Amino acid sequence: MKHTNEMEIIFDSRSENEGFARVAVAAFLTQLNPTVEEVADVKTAVSEAVTNAVIHGYEKEVHKVRIRCSIRENLFTVEVCDTGKGIPNVQEAMQPMYTTKPEQDRSGMGFAFMEAFMDSLEVDSEPGRGTRVTMTKTIGKGREIWTTQSL
Ligand code: ATP
Ligand code: MG
Repeated sequence: MKHTNEMEIIFDSRSENEGFARVAVAAFLTQLNPTVEEVADVKTAVSEAVTNAVIHGYEKEVHKVRIRCSIRENLFTVEVCDTGKGIPNVQEAMQPMYTTKPEQDRSGMGFAFMEAFMDSLEVDSEPGRGTRVTMTKTIGKGREIWTTQSL
């Protein structure tokens, strides 16, 4: 049977919890023996998604953010969900440098970072219902060969 593991956390959409969320996900990821770089990539992507839920999804009202992580062999999947205001046009929102809050010094690069640091990024959103960001990353890419040779 394939190695699988799952976890879920639900927390208040306060900016203090962004650091907590990032570290909690990184701690769960540790069982896959990630490199420092892989951990940093996942932490950055999770940070961006959680920040978006806090500042755009709930516009600083306090509601719940949910993160689900799963591991299937060496495929890591993380889902960040809010039940906030949603995104009217996801394709447009995902364009680099697109932001609806330029006055708050937002650069519109959050989704671009998530895309760059993870292997896949999927955004499901409905205005008035909320947003779900699903990202995956295969951990240990290119290292399997080395492991086999060293046996
Ligand atoms: P930056 O991430 O660089 O600080 P940003 O948050 O505006 O700026 P992105 O993270 O790429 O840039 O998001 C682009 C736009 O998508 C946001 O400006 C916002 O309009 C919308 N958006 C992103 N996430 C959510 C969300 N969870 N709920 C509602 N709208 C969102
Ligand atoms: Mg952002």
